[in-house]
Amino acid sequence: MSNADARLRRWLRPQLLASRAYHVQDSRGLIKLDAMENPYPLPEALREGWLAALRDAELNRYPDPQAGALCELLREQLRLGPDIGLLLGNGSDELIQLLAIALAGPERVVLAPTPAFVMYQVLADALGMRFEGVPLTADFQLDRDAMLAAIAARQPAVVYLAYPNNPTGNLFDAAVMREIIEAAPGLVVVDEAYAPFSGGRSFLGELGRYDNLLLMRTLSKQGLAGLRLGLLLGPKPWIDELDKLRLPYNINVLTQVSARFILEHGAVLAEQADWILAERARLAQALAALSGITAYPSDANFILFRAPAGRGPGIFQGLREKGILIKNLHGTPGLDDCLRVTVGTAAENTAFLQALETLL
Ligand code: PMP
Repeated sequence: MSNADARLRRWLRPQLLASRAYHVQDSRGLIKLDAMENPYPLPEALREGWLAALRDAELNRYPDPQAGALCELLREQLRLGPDIGLLLGNGSDELIQLLAIALAGPERVVLAPTPAFVMYQVLADALGMRFEGVPLTADFQLDRDAMLAAIAARQPAVVYLAYPNNPTGNLFDAAVMREIIEAAPGLVVVDEAYAPFSGGRSFLGELGRYDNLLLMRTLSKQGLAGLRLGLLLGPKPWIDELDKLRLPYNINVLTQVSARFILEHGAVLAEQADWILAERARLAQALAALSGITAYPSDANFILFRAPAGRGPGIFQGLREKGILIKNLHGTPGLDDCLRVTVGTAAENTAFLQALETLL
């Protein structure tokens, strides 16, 4: 071992040395249906106004540390009452990290039904917390008894419930979620990253009803993945404490200006979400008609489907060779031969379906 290597191993935390970097697939030159992005760019008609708003941005000054104007607009649009706090993050990933920093400690547990969004575990591991996954049932619902038993036994600092869930795409039973919120000794974070596609079903109206319920949202799936803006909402005492850990200028000037402009023209994003919903229905129907494919119901902007036994990884690779990138979930417990496709434009979805059909 070289001196430099020995020094690195002496000082870096063992959890870090044992971990692997988060891998993002190389999508260059491919039809990108892997990351739940909105496939539609900002319409030409809005681009001029957006660029004009950016022209006034002051790059030589630090951004507003509180992102005050943006927060005010979001509070108004979400109709938040005065008892509800709002904290912005550089994507909701940063908010998950912030929660982990706030809650970390020896033996502290992060609990989520699995399969779950991977960052809950990645960031728990990074901060030396224990991640406890409770398998979903065969139809991807919460295993009520197992969840309640794990909560009682493990006393988690935080429970994450993605509503709808990634990578399965479905909404959990809301009554079971309420039982979990009531039984949890610590926080329950309902992660509504896919809210624009879930038919209005949301826990937003339940904020403030429980002192341990936080809600997370993101603009990433709505058409603004490039901006990196996540929202954490919940009782003011929790949000005020968490805000102490937020880096002062975490939402940059360009994001503040752009998000304000686009949210003021939010009808455009709503219209795009409608197109995505229409394409989701078409894609689901077409997948269901392919023999050998099981497509699972989706309340999100992606569809999970299962290939014939043993063929998932080969189909993933075959699609890639045909220029289409989706997500291979083979190897995730319970999801062997499963693939996840993001709803793209009509042309992208047609290209995906045609390629998949030839591979089957
Ligand atoms: N939560 C869930 C359930 C997700 O699927 C994702 C993105 N894949 C995120 C949060 C993170 O979103 P972002 O950091 O882009 O806001």
